[in-house]
Amino acid sequence: EKNLRIDKNVYDWSSEEEEPDGRARPIQVLLVKDDHTFELDEAALSRILLSEEVRDREVVAISVAGAFRKGKSFLMDFMLRYMYNHASENWLGNPEEPLTGFSWRGGSERETTGIQIWSEVFLVDKPDGRKVAVLLMDTQGTFDSQSTLRDSATVFALSTMISSMQVYNISQNVQEDDLQHLQLFTEYGRLAMEETFLKPFQSMIFLVRDWSFPYEFPYGQEGGMKFLEKRLKISENQHEELQNVRKHIHSCFTNISCFLMPHPGLKVATNPLFDGRIKEIDGEFINNLKVLVPWLLSPRNIDVKEINGSKITCRGLLEYFKAYIKIYQG
Ligand code: GDP
Ligand code: MG
Repeated sequence: EKNLRIDKNVYDWSSEEEEPDGRARPIQVLLVKDDHTFELDEAALSRILLSEEVRDREVVAISVAGAFRKGKSFLMDFMLRYMYNHASENWLGNPEEPLTGFSWRGGSERETTGIQIWSEVFLVDKPDGRKVAVLLMDTQGTFDSQSTLRDSATVFALSTMISSMQVYNISQNVQEDDLQHLQLFTEYGRLAMEETFLKPFQSMIFLVRDWSFPYEFPYGQEGGMKFLEKRLKISENQHEELQNVRKHIHSCFTNISCFLMPHPGLKVATNPLFDGRIKEIDGEFINNLKVLVPWLLSPRNIDVKEINGSKITCRGLLEYFKAYIKIYQG
């Protein structure tokens, strides 16, 4: 992708010495409060999406969603590194450098449910010459009790509605309840949207972490597709409920794919002092990361957000975000 550039914009985040306010960081734009109401930080969202350089650009919105402590933020930080290193060959950089960006950590303390957006929107030149704005979203849910499942459904639905690509981050396997959750969440989203003959959402990527059966389905995208085909297959002798979940998922997304990631190694999973340096991550994980991140984010592969068949700008996305939130608050 040598001829393709990513321009830095809005903030310069390279220097540690700068005022915290001058540096790019995750911004909590949607927060689910203890009483299960939603709070949208409209001012913050406007600052990001209406900044002069990006507001009239078509937007690519990448979201990663799923339960807590499954490595979403860890992955997003690698996505940031790819963006900041301009999609270059050596985007992974120095193997001794700690990983920074969205906060990621071990332990099991309580976390907030909601949506965080990276404060810097990246400008990327597509191969056809168009310059698009790329927005990265980190989404979190709890999925554990009935009351929080509803919160998670709303967060997941919203992030699916406003993204052009939703990465559904799941641990170890695609279980039946992962599919049921996806059905519930997308149903939440579809109900809130205008009816159209088009599929309501764009790309859905099942990202399976800690995949441990590479001898059945190899790591990566091809193994993932074969595995997913099998999991999403509809057959006559299946229980009706299983068939319906699968039909529903197929009917919601224009593209569905899957990527199988290996385990990153025990240092990543269990060492509280691990700071994200590549040197301490399993080579197999890094090799697959080198495939996964460009597959998701390379200028050639990213798609502009469309709603009802129309391409959306950052300014337009802000309006949709506000309108969708109102539906769930109502
Ligand atoms: P999030 O809550 O989904 O954003 O998860 P984090 O990115 O904060 O990661 C939670 C913990 O899981 C951290 O200790 C990470 O080092 C670790 N971790 C990151 N990626 C993986 C992975 O692919 N597999 C495993 N087992 N652990 C991971
Ligand atoms: Mg996180």
